[in-house]
Order: sequence, then C-alpha cells, then structure tokens
Amino acid sequence: MKGSSQGIDVLDQDAKAIVQQHLDQLGAPQGQVHTDAHKQQMFEQIKAELLKQEAVLVAHYYCDPIVQELAEATGGCVADSLEMARFGRDHPAKTLVVAGVKFMGETAKILSPEKTILMPTLEATCSLDLGCPVDQFTQFCDAHPDHTVVVYANTSAAVKARADWVVTSSCAVEIIEHLDSLGEKIIWAPDQHLGRYIKNKTKAEMLLWDGACIVHEEFRSRGIEKMRALYPDAAVLVHPESPMSVIAVADAVGSTSQLIQAAKTLPQQTMIVATDRGIFYKMQQVVPEKTLIEAPTAGEGATCRSCAHCPWMAMNDLQGILDVLQHMHQEIHVDPALRERAKQPLDRMLAFSAAMQR
Ligand code: SF4
Repeated sequence: MKGSSQGIDVLDQDAKAIVQQHLDQLGAPQGQVHTDAHKQQMFEQIKAELLKQEAVLVAHYYCDPIVQELAEATGGCVADSLEMARFGRDHPAKTLVVAGVKFMGETAKILSPEKTILMPTLEATCSLDLGCPVDQFTQFCDAHPDHTVVVYANTSAAVKARADWVVTSSCAVEIIEHLDSLGEKIIWAPDQHLGRYIKNKTKAEMLLWDGACIVHEEFRSRGIEKMRALYPDAAVLVHPESPMSVIAVADAVGSTSQLIQAAKTLPQQTMIVATDRGIFYKMQQVVPEKTLIEAPTAGEGATCRSCAHCPWMAMNDLQGILDVLQHMHQEIHVDPALRERAKQPLDRMLAFSAAMQR
C-alpha cells in the first residue's frame, strides 16, 4: 500500500488487470435494435411472464432505452441506485428482476431477503466493484481503525459488510457533511474522483481508495470546452465520478437524478451531458423541448474504452429479461450472515436519506 497526502494508492495491478480483462472480453457496447412488431411482441411476452411470476422490473437509468421503456410500460421503475433499492424493498412483488449491474442485484437481496432477485445477466459488473477487492479493503480499514468507513453503493456485499455507511451519489455529500460535523475521520471507497469532489466540497478528513468508473473517467475537460465553443449557450452537466478537471467546467454537478433535475431547472435550452448516455431516455422525457448532447469521450488523453456507455449495463436486454422470467434462473444469493452485516450500513443510508427528504 502507498500513502500520500491526497489519498491512498491501494489498487494493485491485479485489480486493474481484472478490470481490463473484463473490458477486453466485452468489446464495445451495442445498442439494441428491434422492429416495432418484434418489440411489441417481446413486451407482451415479458408482461405476461411478470404477471405470472408476480414480478416487477427495476431498471437503472444507464440501461438501454428499450429496457427502461419496458420497465415503465410494465409498472416497474427506472431510477438511480438509491431509488432502485427503495422501490424494490417497498414493492409487494415476490420477485424483482433487476436490470443493472451485480451490486444492484445484491443490494436488492440484502434489503429484501424474502424476495427472489433475478438478473438478466450475472456477468454485468462494475469497474468500481472490481477495483475494490474485499481482502485488500479490509486490510486497509484495519490499518486505520480510528476512521469511519464509508463506501459507495458500487461495491460487493462483502465490502458493504465491512463498512459503517453505504452512500450513493444522491446522498454522499450530505452524509459526509454529517459525519464531518461529528468530528469523524473517514475512509472513502472506491471511487477516487467522487471522493475527491466530496472532500473538496466538505473539507472533511478523508482517505481515498483509488478506484474509478471506466465510463466517467473518459471525459476530458479539453473536449468539453471545445464542444462548448460550438454551443456557447449550452449548459454542461457532469456526474461527480468524472475527473476534477471535468467537474471544474460544469454548470451542474450531481447524481443521475440530480442531473435530470438540473436539465429541467437550468434556463439553457441545450445541455452537454457528461455521464452514461443511457440517461438521455429519461432526461429527454423531462425536457422534451431541450437539446441534449453527449459530452465527448475522445478529448485529449481519452482512450474511449467506454464511449459514454457502460459495457456492463449494455448487457441487459429484452431476451435476457424474458429468459430469466421463463426459467426463473440467474438468481442473486447473498450469504445470510454477510447480508445481516451489509444491511446495517444500507439501512443507515436509507434512514438518513428519508430524513433528508422530510
Ligand atoms: S457506469 Fe461506471 S459506475 Fe456505473 S456500473 Fe458502469 S462502470 Fe460502474
């Protein structure tokens, strides 16, 4: 492990290699193309299976638009990870079909152990989750026993079980402010960019793990500035998993839900959006009259491994959703003892964010 005044560089080459290996295997994400008739047929079939299995579809904003449309058309939910967790927990369905990535399925199981949690693919993971292996993380936490451990939702159940708090980007700043007001020193994992953003904003004492989201890490301020020169009246919306230099050129910084809200409240008619392009489906619904433009990922220094679309989110498709419902397979399991421990920091977050809304 290497320490520095800026944070802690603990992500070893093995973890980085695991992320790279996943990316190499996946290739570039493909959009899903269906004829109208085929789409309608798939929607009808899936709707019938959802009814039969007493199931509901919970989808993330970064899924393909057709999956989001299906969730809406069948009484499910399209949301950020915090709202997905709440919706799944409170919905009376016996089965939740979670269209997203693995940690979202695990979170659903932790909060709703009595429900069957299915995922269209069990291969869909997240570079933040991959980049925070529980053994190394536990070692790191054990080396700083006087620190409160705060982890982002994008982590495994085992990492959550080692944490005092789980947060999502919708409530992270407020929770860190709260902990800082109590004089607590904080370990933050795994996203270094979000951690740095919160640290700058709150001035809290934080040690940062050095994970990163492969989608947001690709945005570059130079590319965005060049695009802004083409659209001088546009607002720039940035997710805080992006590098600090990108956050610095933003008109609004926030979680997916907060960016959708910003698109509505900002007066500009054109938005340059630096987050996964899956968000355009919901954002355009909220501001049908505005023009939305993808922030470039091919600016100076970018390698465009993601092209603003998460390769793991792209693995959720209609056929996968139909298959899991027909065969009731690809179920998420979490060890009961682990689940109990991981539930505590999750419950803390849900209680805090519920109090925030009152
Ligand atoms: S977009 Fe980034 S943070 Fe979200 S699931 Fe994909 S890799 Fe993880």
